Amino acid sequence: MTNLRIPGPTPCPPEVLEAMAGQMVNHRGPEFAELLYRVTEGLRRFFQTTNDVLILTTSGTGAMEAMVVNALSPGDRVLVVTTGAFGVRFAQIAETYGARVSRLEVPWGQAADPEAVQAALAADPAIKAVLLTHSETSTGVTNDLEALAAVCRQFGVLTVVDGISSLGAIPLPVDEWGLDFVATASQKGWMVPPGLAMVAVSDRGWQAYQQATMPRFYFDLGKAKSFLEKGQTPWTPAVSVFYALDVALQLMEQEGREAIYERHRRVGEAARAGVKGLGLTLFADEGHASNTVTAVNVPQGIDGSVLVKHLRTQHGVVLAGGQGPLAGKIFRIGHLGLVTEPDIDATLAALERALAEVAASAGGVRT
Ligand SMILES: *Cc1c(COP(=O)(O)O)cnc(C)c1O
Repeated sequence: MTNLRIPGPTPCPPEVLEAMAGQMVNHRGPEFAELLYRVTEGLRRFFQTTNDVLILTTSGTGAMEAMVVNALSPGDRVLVVTTGAFGVRFAQIAETYGARVSRLEVPWGQAADPEAVQAALAADPAIKAVLLTHSETSTGVTNDLEALAAVCRQFGVLTVVDGISSLGAIPLPVDEWGLDFVATASQKGWMVPPGLAMVAVSDRGWQAYQQATMPRFYFDLGKAKSFLEKGQTPWTPAVSVFYALDVALQLMEQEGREAIYERHRRVGEAARAGVKGLGLTLFADEGHASNTVTAVNVPQGIDGSVLVKHLRTQHGVVLAGGQGPLAGKIFRIGHLGLVTEPDIDATLAALERALAEVAASAGGVRT
């Protein structure tokens, strides 16, 4: 069996997969309404919010787009804090819909500095919203969202957060941190196949929604909210993935939110210690290294793509390469959702052998 260790899609427990094999139901009937209410309540406990949580049939990027078009109007000034590929994507979405975007570009591998955000907001009082990435999956950095959000609150700007690879795996208490829009997606920490994304919206977020004039139709969160009130979604939902999410949330409740966070902390630490024990170096600033994905510098003399391919074909371990400018420079070990220390041990053991095997073969030598 392959050991799928990428930062999404993540492996799913068998019970979750089995839940997807059930017969269809009427998505405008009572069975689906009950399922939708139950799953929404389950999500709110993990978001730690009393805000609305809306479930969209889309990927994580769809939820990012939904947050942008429901919060903003063309011409709005927006600060996007970019710490990697997903921060850049957030900026591109906002620009696509006509926001006037200022980028606070943080070198990849480092975390955003709350003081720099403070300075950027102080310098431009016209900024209406700050777009933030919690865990930057492309670099293996988890930003200090609590501190960043506190700065945003001082300035009274909206916080729009990509929590796609963090929610459900590491602490992200939406209400305590005062976040206005927060998104995640089923295939990351939730141990569910791709297909659903979830967005929490605060009261301030809904006030912004009332004013926002960016074009929206499929992703109109107001429609999602009014349909949720009658136990439906505006459009046909990915019914099978809802059943999977229902089972996954039950498993997560059984383990307990704090126990899940603690497991990710242990697994993250084990991954980083193990990688360093093999003589490799971490790409991310270790003070902000993520407990959901570990980015590793490809060592000198090894071709990163050859290493990743060798791990897959010879050892059944599937890792992720680097994105954008990091292609070939790093590889990433995903450890979110269904993951325990033995999974990391197995990954590291395979990595150790693969490094030796690739280094020994001419094909792995970089010229
Ligand atoms: C995976 C991911 C996304 C994109 O999600 P898709 O489901 O691939 O659209 C966005 N942001 C972060 C931080 C992610 O990890």
